[in-house]
Amino acid sequence: MGGLDRTVSHGATLDRVLVRAPGKLNVFFAVGDVQPDGYHDVASVYQAVSAVEEVVATPSDDFTIAVTGSVDVEGVPLDDRNLAIRAARLLASETGYTGGVHLVVDKHVPVAGGMGGGSADAAAALVACDALWRTGLPVARLHDLASRLGADVPFALLGGTAVGTGRGDQLSPALARGRFDWVLVTDGEGLSTPVVYGELDRLRAQRRPDIAPDAGDPVVDPQVLQALRAGDAATLARAARNDLQAAACALRPALADLVADGIGHGALTGLVSGSGPTVAFLAADPDAAAMIGERLAEEGHDVRHVHGPVGGTRVVSAS
Ligand code: ATP
Repeated sequence: MGGLDRTVSHGATLDRVLVRAPGKLNVFFAVGDVQPDGYHDVASVYQAVSAVEEVVATPSDDFTIAVTGSVDVEGVPLDDRNLAIRAARLLASETGYTGGVHLVVDKHVPVAGGMGGGSADAAAALVACDALWRTGLPVARLHDLASRLGADVPFALLGGTAVGTGRGDQLSPALARGRFDWVLVTDGEGLSTPVVYGELDRLRAQRRPDIAPDAGDPVVDPQVLQALRAGDAATLARAARNDLQAAACALRPALADLVADGIGHGALTGLVSGSGPTVAFLAADPDAAAMIGERLAEEGHDVRHVHGPVGGTRVVSAS
């Protein structure tokens, strides 16, 4: 189970803090009706996975950021729109800290892939600045700031496995045993989350039989939680579901072909992660994942093998 480890040595001034924060998959995602504020209530089961972001924070008078990584980082803003910068500024304004920070973000979570990479950067920036500036916020206050930054930021702090309700930000940790192996296919342009939700609303308004109706008060299928507790990938594959999948596939029909393709190569299931377009294929074990990954790579897909659950945002080094 992931926890929030912010342990740093007290006393001396810090010059450099390195923090790691995980990306996530939604192994279950039920979407309720649209709310008066325009958001949808959801019931989500998150799993933090081994695609992780690394953020280094160093002292500065301003708020600046540099972004590198093993994924295509072209779409990542380098100004105040960046979630990591927004997180640092929010922490400063909440605590009265008058200095700034320079953040270097090393990204390994696909951008705009439905895996919460920006949220992970925000969580990492909060924890890194809290350590660097010695603002020492209690965990509950960090979670409060996290939920103000975005629905997926609190889970990036917590990690592990958790049920999210409300907008996905009201979290209860869930038990999980063992390890789940996933093959991620991350090719294709990012999909905008609001556009995918809009498409789901449109498809539901047509009352199509192949579209999950709105869940009213969405709830998590208990079978998903049982499968996670038992470490049973085959049962998880049968119970896993994402209400946004049909909408993402309607907007990008190649996704449905890709899901069928991965299952044809032996995946237990293929799930669009969040609002997509990353597709996560669940494999029976690491060897099966390696084989499925090889086949998909031979077909020209951009593939990575990750596992979960992994821990939440933590300070790796502080000096
Ligand atoms: P969401 O579901 O919140 O849209 P996502 O997981 O699909 O998120 P992210 O990689 O978090 O995708 O980024 C979504 C968009 O947010 C990007 O296209 C980018 O314009 C913007 N963004 C802001 N800050 C960041 C960041 N630190 N890393 C990546 N994208 C960021």
